[in-house]
Amino acid sequence: MAKEKQLVYVDSKGKRLDGRKQNELRPIKITAGVIPRADGSAFLEWGQNKVYAAVYGPRECLPKHTASPYKAVIKFNYRMAAFSVPDRKNPRPGRREMEISKVCGDALERAIFVERFPNTQIDITVEIVDADAGSRIAALTAASVACADAGIPMRDMVSGTGVGKAGGKIIVDLDKAEEDAPDAVDVPLAILPNSKEIVLLQLDGVMTQKEWKEAYKAGVEASMEVYEIQKKALKAKFSEKGVEKK
Ligand code: UDP
Repeated sequence: MAKEKQLVYVDSKGKRLDGRKQNELRPIKITAGVIPRADGSAFLEWGQNKVYAAVYGPRECLPKHTASPYKAVIKFNYRMAAFSVPDRKNPRPGRREMEISKVCGDALERAIFVERFPNTQIDITVEIVDADAGSRIAALTAASVACADAGIPMRDMVSGTGVGKAGGKIIVDLDKAEEDAPDAVDVPLAILPNSKEIVLLQLDGVMTQKEWKEAYKAGVEASMEVYEIQKKALKAKFSEKGVEKK
């Protein structure tokens, strides 16, 4: 029987399928304040991923029975456009979108001073218009910038990246081709960059403890790069409007 040829995800020179190094992120570009109707917004391009995030609130919590007298309720909506993936995505929100909305909302709640706004809700809507793996972290990254753009008091940003394994090698920020590797492990990771508190961590696959240690270190380092890009996007917006100018 002919032996199946194994795909190489990191070559002998340490290059990946798209030419990136093992710990290299895809190109990221963030623009803050792109939706005037929203209180805060951002547009993010992360490799092929394209994401809009819009934030409204804190505002009256409706329906009222969903309100909390102790904190603002984060209502995070992650949605994928029907045309964002090769096989048309059913526009009806599925279980995957509900799960991603839940974990991203929980992550942002760690960053926002929700206790300052009892009986209110903060609506965060993220629309994925093009997806190529890593879209939940792209959504969270854009949403975090949009919250800051809205002037919502936050103890920190939320910054993250995917990290994992393909072809037996630890790599940062897996794209779709890498996520589809036969031995792929995908770990979306998000942290509060100043305290390094982990606010989102999911695992799809199996890793040894040694591999995880390596992946976690690379993931935190890459997340710090994402944090710098987020800060730059916010500074660019507010300096444009003269806030930073004396
Ligand atoms: N995807 C798709 N159709 C779907 C859901 C996902 O083609 O209905 C693709 C899309 O490119 C997405 C990738 O699969 O980015 C990985 O999806 P996953 O659930 O792992 O979430 P993500 O990595 O985007 O956070």
